[in-house]
Amino acid sequence: MTDYKTIAARLRLPEAMIIDGKSEVAQSGETFDTTDPATGETLAKLPAAGPKDVDLAVASARRSFEDGVWSGLHPSERKRVLQKLADLIDAETDMLAVMESMDAGKPINDCVSIDVPETANCIRWHAEAQDKLYDQIAPSAPDAVGLIVREPIGVVAAVLPWNFPLMMMAWKIGPALATGNSVVVKPAEQTSLTALRLAELALEAGVPPGVLNVVTGMGPDVGEPLGRHMDVDALTFTGSTEVGRYFLEYAAQSNMKEVCLEMGGKSAAVILEDAGNIDQIAEIQANAIFWNMGENCTANSRIIAHATVYDDLVAALAKQAATWVMGDPLDPATQNGPLVSAEHLEKVCGLVAIGKAQGARVVYGGDAGEGLMFQPTVFADVTPEMTIFREEIFGPVVAVTRAESDEEAVAMANATAYGLAATLYTRDITKAHRYARKLKAGTVGVNAYSEGEISTPFGGFKASGFGGRDNGVHAHEQYSELKTIWIDLNG
Ligand code: NAD
Repeated sequence: MTDYKTIAARLRLPEAMIIDGKSEVAQSGETFDTTDPATGETLAKLPAAGPKDVDLAVASARRSFEDGVWSGLHPSERKRVLQKLADLIDAETDMLAVMESMDAGKPINDCVSIDVPETANCIRWHAEAQDKLYDQIAPSAPDAVGLIVREPIGVVAAVLPWNFPLMMMAWKIGPALATGNSVVVKPAEQTSLTALRLAELALEAGVPPGVLNVVTGMGPDVGEPLGRHMDVDALTFTGSTEVGRYFLEYAAQSNMKEVCLEMGGKSAAVILEDAGNIDQIAEIQANAIFWNMGENCTANSRIIAHATVYDDLVAALAKQAATWVMGDPLDPATQNGPLVSAEHLEKVCGLVAIGKAQGARVVYGGDAGEGLMFQPTVFADVTPEMTIFREEIFGPVVAVTRAESDEEAVAMANATAYGLAATLYTRDITKAHRYARKLKAGTVGVNAYSEGEISTPFGGFKASGFGGRDNGVHAHEQYSELKTIWIDLNG
């Protein structure tokens, strides 16, 4: 069995930003600590960048874009380089997984089997897709040719969250680089290490200097200047709805850059009267909320169950929660490690306390564990007025609500400001189709909790999403401009 502790002890952690292909400290010389949430130890001191560093990174991205060193390549050449990057990621799976696990508190098994392979898969998928996409010719009179072409948008800024640091970076840079853009990435300040390593690997794979830059630091110091930058053409963001809103303001107040936002959620699983095997559903739904400590944007943090299956479902969920293994993230047996930070644990504890005070019934868990851990928690008898029905907790906490009919269950699922994902259980194919269409969410899983795959677009309705989609060839749209070229053949 792989000894992850030994890998951790020998790991070289990146300490510099990558700007214009070079390792850089912040212009101010300032640093901030990135810590291991499992131990509280400082892992590395990283550059605390500011607007001057952002200007340098954007200028290098602009230069490389206009030079055509990447944007001007034959698509198959970009494909070759990005395939090499995916191969380098695969070759470094264990090291990247340990770095991710230590920086974010994520269980090592998930990092090895999901985060790192999916990162490579995403980059490879977009690399392979983009030289097979054709542009269009418009219907026109015989004396004209109307070309409808897609061009790379230019300089893309990507502002990332801490819950899936590598994967979220791949979801942005995969399609952005494949379509020929130059990119400036701002990782979350809690989890910047693997972003820096990925940028080093990109250089090794042959991505030219300046095409992929990584600037580390705080949201207001790096994220805001990117959002307000006059020379950034598109900004793609994954994170909270609260911060997502700022990017619309930044764009409106600066150069009207394109903005694509993937934000929070309060996704529901709807269990209809004829849902089928309740034990099996409870097992799937335990995974849908407890996986990754519930720090997952599509986490099914609400379950709305028909009255006829409600009691059995609550009992089966509590049983599932009791089996969840909490512990050291570097132990392969661990299913849940610590939450990402003390501030985040405090937020989760606060919302759980409100749930208790408002009368929801704790069926399992309900308390913090050792260090920054929080127990898998099942609340029953939750009503739509309660705060834990409405607000994103982003922890391993599920709120179960009783519905008197299938119609009411679907209506309750939709009674939220968010619309990222939903799950629907029924054995009736007609109901499956009817209610899947009624659910107001970007992804609806039927009889399975699912985010789809790399081939399917991912994003949210309502306050969960804005301006485009990640994944699939649909993601390419946010990184390209549509142009009409009209050629008059009479001249
Ligand atoms: P966050 O919004 O706090 O931070 C995200 C990024 O924005 C970070 O890099 C942060 O430094 C930056 N930022 C913070 N304040 C800023 C400001 N004033 N101006 C510019 N940038 C700023 O989110 P988080 O806590 O890192 O992540 C958790 C959230 O992300 C949850 O709400 C979750 O649902 C969401 N999320 C959504 C998806 C999705 O695809 N829809 C995926 C993962 C996470």
